[in-house]
Amino acid sequence: MGWLDARDADEVTYDQLSGFEYNGRRIALMDRQRGIRKPAGMDAALAIRTTYTPPNKVPPYQDAIGPDGLQRYMYRGQDPDHAENRALRVAMRLRLPLMWFVGVREGLYQPIYPVFILGEEARQHRFALALDEMQRFVEPGAAMAEDTRRYVERVTKARLHQRVFRSQVMLAYDGSCAICELQQERLVDAAHIIEDGKPGGEPVVPNGMAMCKIHHAAYDAGILGVRPDLTLHIRQDILDTVDGPMLRHGLQEMHDRRLLVIPRSRASRPDLHRLERRYSEFLTAG
Ligand SMILES: [Zn+2]
Repeated sequence: MGWLDARDADEVTYDQLSGFEYNGRRIALMDRQRGIRKPAGMDAALAIRTTYTPPNKVPPYQDAIGPDGLQRYMYRGQDPDHAENRALRVAMRLRLPLMWFVGVREGLYQPIYPVFILGEEARQHRFALALDEMQRFVEPGAAMAEDTRRYVERVTKARLHQRVFRSQVMLAYDGSCAICELQQERLVDAAHIIEDGKPGGEPVVPNGMAMCKIHHAAYDAGILGVRPDLTLHIRQDILDTVDGPMLRHGLQEMHDRRLLVIPRSRASRPDLHRLERRYSEFLTAG
C-alpha cells in the first residue's frame, strides 16, 4: 500500500501489479485467473479484484450495498471452504487490510485501499467490507439509525462507486473538460447527467461527462444546459450580464457551441435519454 501511495498515477496496470517486488522478491499482487489473491506462504488474502465492466453495463458491486450501507463482496463460487474464501476469512479474523483493484479499462485498475473484511454472510455467500476506518465500527446487518445508515452508504459510494466512476469518465474524456478542454487534473470532475440516487443516476460512463469545476457548477446550477445534440445552451440572464473574462469566455461564448471533447467510443458517450431528461429540467427551471 505504501508502494501504491508513492506512485503518481491514480490507476495501476496489470503488469505493475503482477510484477510487484518486495525486498527483492516478486510477490504478484494480482493473478490472471483468480479474483482473490493469496500469495504462496501467506495465510490471508492480500488483494481482491473486480474485472472491468464496459461503460454501458452495471458493474457487479453496484447493487451490492447492504441494508447497513456497507459494501458486499461475493464469495469465489458457492463453497465457503474454497481456499480463496478461507483466505478472506483469515484476513477478517486477523483484521488485516486488503487492496481492492477495480477494473476501469482492460488491464487497468483503480486501487481502493485499505479495505477490511468486517463480517461474513454465509447464506448469501458474501462478505461485508469496510472501505474506511470509520466503517470498521459498523456491525454488519445490525439495526441502526437512519442517518447513520445514510452516512455509511455515502462513504461507500464516495470511496468506491464515485472513485471508479471518476476514473472511467476521465479515461473516456482524456482528462479534459468536455466543454472547454481544460486538462488540469485537480480542476476536472466527473459530472453526473442524472443525479446520484435518482432513477438513471447510476455512476456509469454514459451518465457522466468530464467537466472543469466552473462548468460542472454551472451545469448543476442550471446556468448551462447540454442539449441532446451535444450543443450548449447558456441561460438568457447570464447571456445578458456584463462581467469579466471568465463570464465572457468561459460561459457566454460557449452558447450554441458543440461539446469540444466527446469520447471516441460510442458506448462511452453521454446517453441521449439522460441528456433529454436533464435538458428538459434545465428548460423548466430556467
Ligand atoms: Zn470547462
